[in-house]
Amino acid sequence: MVDYANYLTHLECGLTGERHEAGQVHGLSQAGKPLLARYDLDAVKAGVDRDAIWERTGGFWKWRELLPVQDTKHVCALGEVDTPLITLNTLHESGNVIIKDEGRLPTGSFKARGLALAVAMASELGLEHLAMPTNGNAGSALAAYCSRIGIKTTVVCPDDTPAINIEETALQGAKVYKANGLINACGAWVKAGADKGLWFDLSTLKEPYRIEGKKTMGLELAAQLGWTLPDVIFYPTGGGTGLIGMWKAFAELEAIGWIGGKRPKMVAVQATGCAPIVKAWQDGAEHAPLWEDAKTMAAGIRVPVALGDFLILRAVRESGGFAIAVEDEAIADARAEMGSKEGIHLCPEGAATYAAYKQALADGQISEKDQAVLFNCGNGLKYPMPALR
Ligand SMILES: *Cc1c(COP(=O)(O)O)cnc(C)c1O
Repeated sequence: MVDYANYLTHLECGLTGERHEAGQVHGLSQAGKPLLARYDLDAVKAGVDRDAIWERTGGFWKWRELLPVQDTKHVCALGEVDTPLITLNTLHESGNVIIKDEGRLPTGSFKARGLALAVAMASELGLEHLAMPTNGNAGSALAAYCSRIGIKTTVVCPDDTPAINIEETALQGAKVYKANGLINACGAWVKAGADKGLWFDLSTLKEPYRIEGKKTMGLELAAQLGWTLPDVIFYPTGGGTGLIGMWKAFAELEAIGWIGGKRPKMVAVQATGCAPIVKAWQDGAEHAPLWEDAKTMAAGIRVPVALGDFLILRAVRESGGFAIAVEDEAIADARAEMGSKEGIHLCPEGAATYAAYKQALADGQISEKDQAVLFNCGNGLKYPMPALR
């Protein structure tokens, strides 16, 4: 096994900047906020060649020098790939609308990135049992990587979670419970078990390393575009790990001199039936209060309250971007249009980004000349399809 240099130095509270030591098990910071991994970026700059990294195989694992895992024996790889960029050519002839198709990853969604890193770090830190509440793709990704490396998993789903997600998670080796409550209630149950010492709580942003996995979307995108970034990124935002992770990736890439100072506008896309971040963005607020009665067909972005709300909003504002909500009907139309006109089967969350692109274009928030990357975060085949007519 090849050994890679490791540059992780410590962790920092995302709100207060308070330092926490590496090499120990961490949940939230002292202040109860997400922790961010920090690296010796000067040493990376001096010692690592971006093109040598980009030539490696192994998908997101190729970025080892910018990831926290020290020992390769904890790398729980399942044949990851760099996910393709697909340029639209029928719906938009400009060549400026590009889909990044994350549905090609193990377990069919980009949850693979975050959970692979969280599981590898759990293994490195000696954790033996991980648990998580989920109403979608996170459970199967967690279960798959845990099974790969020999860690026990418990997953709790609201009882209205689609059967396919529950069955897939069970098939991949997790012990799955259905709870008659929403995701928040499932989260409370997982926390209670963690407090009793039954398992470690791997809820979104409650441990530091999922962001590091999601960060690789930003690293990979920069490399794919020849070490530049697009004008605008449309991202389907639930807990926001991906948006926060990409924003962190861009800052790290600039600090090590692999890209310049240009940043894309970051656009947080939500559904009108669950749009806490959009409301907070419109209100100029730093935090996003709980969204009552959350409803949307795009389950991955049905997240009524996000622990990293302030980090999402900070990235959107610093980037000069915006937050935008789309109707479920527009999501369904966008999915059908993309499938039939471009041959690309988006998941509903991915379709939401295309609906948002069209809406933002019509409203003049962006122009046809902007190079736009739309994240399709899951494989459309994992979701119900419209009935035959
Ligand atoms: C989880 C998920 C999202 C939301 O991702 P976050 O980074 O948590 O905001 C979007 N789309 C799909 C398909 C998902 O599974």
